[in-house]
Order: sequence, then structure tokens, then C-alpha cells
Amino acid sequence: MQHISADVVVCGGGPAGINAALAAGRSGARTVLIERYGFLGGMSTAALVYPWMTFHTTAGKQVIAGTAQEIVERLMAADASPGHVRDTVGFVRTITPYDPEVYKVLIVDMLREAGVRVLLHSLMDEAVMDGDRISAIRLATKSGRYEVSARQFVDTTGDADLAQLSGVPCLKGRDGDRLTQPMTMKFRMRGVDLDKVKRYMLEHPDEFYPKTPFSELEELPLSGVLGYFKHWQEANLPINRDQVLFFTGPGRDEVLVNTTRVQGLDATVLDDLTEGEVQGRKQVLMVADFMKRHLPGFEGASLSSVGAQIGVRESRRIEGQYTLQVSDVVEGRAFDDCIARSGYPIDIHDPSGKGVQAAWVQGDGAYDIPYRCLVPKRVVNLLVAGRCISTSHEALATTRLTPSCMATGQAAGTAAGLAFEQDTLPHALDVRQLQDRLLANGALLHSSQAVYETI
Ligand SMILES: Cc1cc2nc3c(=O)[nH]c(=O)nc-3n(C[C@H](O)[C@H](O)[C@H](O)COP(=O)(O)OP(=O)(O)OC[C@H]3O[C@@H](n4cnc5c(N)ncnc54)[C@H](O)[C@@H]3O)c2cc1C
Repeated sequence: MQHISADVVVCGGGPAGINAALAAGRSGARTVLIERYGFLGGMSTAALVYPWMTFHTTAGKQVIAGTAQEIVERLMAADASPGHVRDTVGFVRTITPYDPEVYKVLIVDMLREAGVRVLLHSLMDEAVMDGDRISAIRLATKSGRYEVSARQFVDTTGDADLAQLSGVPCLKGRDGDRLTQPMTMKFRMRGVDLDKVKRYMLEHPDEFYPKTPFSELEELPLSGVLGYFKHWQEANLPINRDQVLFFTGPGRDEVLVNTTRVQGLDATVLDDLTEGEVQGRKQVLMVADFMKRHLPGFEGASLSSVGAQIGVRESRRIEGQYTLQVSDVVEGRAFDDCIARSGYPIDIHDPSGKGVQAAWVQGDGAYDIPYRCLVPKRVVNLLVAGRCISTSHEALATTRLTPSCMATGQAAGTAAGLAFEQDTLPHALDVRQLQDRLLANGALLHSSQAVYETI
């Protein structure tokens, strides 16, 4: 067994883990970020999740910034993102396209600038416990087993792997049958005539999502499309979904398709995950063929890439000091221990049916995420960020979105750094101090903060 010693270990290099490690590294703690794949990004890169949505409320007020906004600005400076643009699907106000290949490189630069040691190709598969504390985690690597010891740990695996291994109680799926949101294998097509797509939309508005901003569509660059109800219904593919969804970019003739759907499988069970990958790839070939044959604008298009893994919307989530509820979200509830906000609606891809259930946030259009959702029960030197924080199945359907995961990541990394610095435990932190540090580092925590122009 080989040993590495750190102050803070962040496990899982997706949106939450990247932002957690940036925050912990910048706090001066010796930080190690562990990732099982050969690149960072999580669902954004491994499963081709694109674009990021959303940094804004439906009225266009920015409610997520901090390290997430810094990443967007670095991408913009590298000509690898247009920044926040209007969503022509009409589901939210803004979306944030980006080039995933530039992102993979840029993010390692940013982490190294923050002094973070990044370990790729390292699968964390064991927690070493000392009572109710994690003393180390163990990694399976090409050069044998490693043990990484630290004072504070952050679980950003998406699946709450470290929480589960260390004994934190975890939940899965909806009440009753415990089914989770479906998995989706995403893919890209190139050679798409997007002008033709737009013309078709303007001429056949009834065939598209009713919230599509048709009155502005002529002027707006096409960023996303939801609908083709008639074509989809006529094709009658064996996929339990009721419409086609795709987003444009990052290339001019390129789209990212989010239309396959694999239901009834548990992404934390080996045979289920295997079956999900197999079914997902079969569906990709079916949908790409359907689009090429039937959708105006896709006549010359071809499949250009498929996710390295199937996209997992929902798996384990922790039981924390507080469980965010759907009513907290839709009422736009404020919490004293707010460490991040989000304006993304509840967006439940039906675990067993064809559709999507949505509910929009009332009040000023954003809800607070309390620090207590990041603090698990039972294990005292662990924080959790990203899609596996403590929420109900319904509330997870908004906190799971990438910008929110980035924001909870920044909060968890900041809290871990602060706990290390003060030689205390996450649950004993003075939340005011945590909030002050987050605010000093660009996070948006109050509805009165209006530091960005409304889009
Ligand atoms: C089909 C689909 C569509 C979506 N659409 C959108 C969208 O349009 N816009 C948007 O903003 N969001 C979207 N999302 C949501 C978003 O992509 C995810 O919820 C988000 O990426 C979760 O971030 P995370 O950091 O919590 O986890 P992940 O992105 O899953 O990252 C976890 C990381 O941890 C690593 N890891 C896991 N286990 C281990 C281990 N044991 N050891 C070492 N490393 C490990 C993984 O390899 C991964 O890199 C979508 C998700 C899916 C699945």
C-alpha cells in the first residue's frame, strides 16, 4: 500500500468536485482531487451533458456565480464558450454552452494554479474509519493500491460512494417504488443545417414546446429545440419519451441530442448499469437514424460522438442534517444557513412514464440551499456536494443541475478548508464565517445581491 497525506480530500472530479477542490486548494489546505476517469468534468464530459443550465432565474437574474462563473469566464477568454445565452427551448431563461475538450484542459490548469494535486485513473473503493471519522480512503490504481489520509473529506462522486462506504445513511429514488429518474445516453451530430431547423420551427410552431420564444426566435441564435411531436409520434420508436430535445453547438453545424431514455434500472447496481449502457447505445443508433431520415435540417447530418458512459440523473443521495423539500424549492424559501441558490425549476424525467414533470420557483425566482443539506448524518469529517446532497427525490430534480452542483461544490470545499484551518468539524463551523468567505469569493447568497446584469 502506498500513502499520500493531505489536509482535504475531494473524491470525484465532476462539477461539484472541481469547484470543491478549487475552493479548498485556494484556502491553503493541501488538497487532493480524486477521479476514476482519465479526465475531469463528470457528466459534463464523460456523459456529454450540455449545456449548463442555469445560472439565472426565469426572469434573467443571475443567482449562481463564484468559482462557477470564473470557469465560464476562463472558457470565454479561451473562445470556448459564448457565456450565458438565451434558451430558445424556453424552459429556462439562459443556458451556458461550452467546449468540453477545452474545458477538460483548462480545468486542470485552474486546479493546479490553486495548488490542488489531481489524481486521475484512481477509483476510490474503501473508507478507513476511526469511529465516526474517516481517517483515509483507498484507491485502486494502475500502480497498485493507495491510501490517502486527510482531516476533511468531500464526497462529490455523484453516487455518494464515499458516504455509503463510510456508513452515512443513503436513499434512492421516489417514495414507494424507489425508482429513480431515467438514464440517458447522449450523442452529438454534425452536418446539421440549423437555419433550416429554425425556418421549420417558425413555420410549424404547433409542433414544438409551447414555451418556445417564437416572437423573438427570428433574432435569437438557436440554442435549443424541444418538440417535433408529430415526427416523433409517427416514428413510434421503442423509447418511452414524448418528444425530441437537442441543443446547438459547440460547432456551428453541431447538436447535442438528449432524447434516449432508459428506465427502471439502478445506476449503483452492476448488472443494471451494464444493461443501461447497452440499451442506451442501441437507442442512440435508432434516434440518430430517425433524425437523419425524418427531421428537416438533418438530411446531411451524421453521428459524431457518443458519451463514454450513460448519463445518470439520479442515484444515491445522503441523509443530511436537513432534507430539502419540493415546497422549499417552489416557494423560493430562504434559509439562514444558505450556501448557494438556484433558479432552475423542478424537472423530473418520469421514472416510469413518457413525460417530464416541471414546477417553477415562485417568489423572486430562486430558492436557497441550506448548508445542512451538505452535512451528512453519522460521519463527522465528511461533506457532500453535487447531485447526492440531502434532498427529496423531487427537490433533487433541481439541485442536480450542473451550475447548482458547482455552487454546492464551492460551498463544501470552502467549508472543508475552513474546518481544517480551525481544527474543527463541519457541523461545528460558524455558518456566518462560511457565508462571509463564500461571499468574498463571489458566491451569490442573498436575493438583494444583484451584481450582474439581467439577461
Ligand atoms: C442525461 C442527463 C442530462 C442532463 N442535462 C443537464 C443539462 O442539460 N444541464 C445541466 O446543467 N445539467 C444537466 N444534467 C445534470 C448534471 O449533468 C449532473 O447532475 C451533474 O453533472 C452532477 O454533478 P456531480 O459533480 O454531482 O456528479 P458527476 O457529474 O456525476 O461527477 C462525479 C464524478 O465523480 C467520479 N467518481 C464517481 N465515483 C467515483 C469513485 N468511486 N472514485 C473516483 N471517482 C469517482 C465520476 O467519474 C465523475 O467524474 C443532466 C444529467 C444527465 C444524466
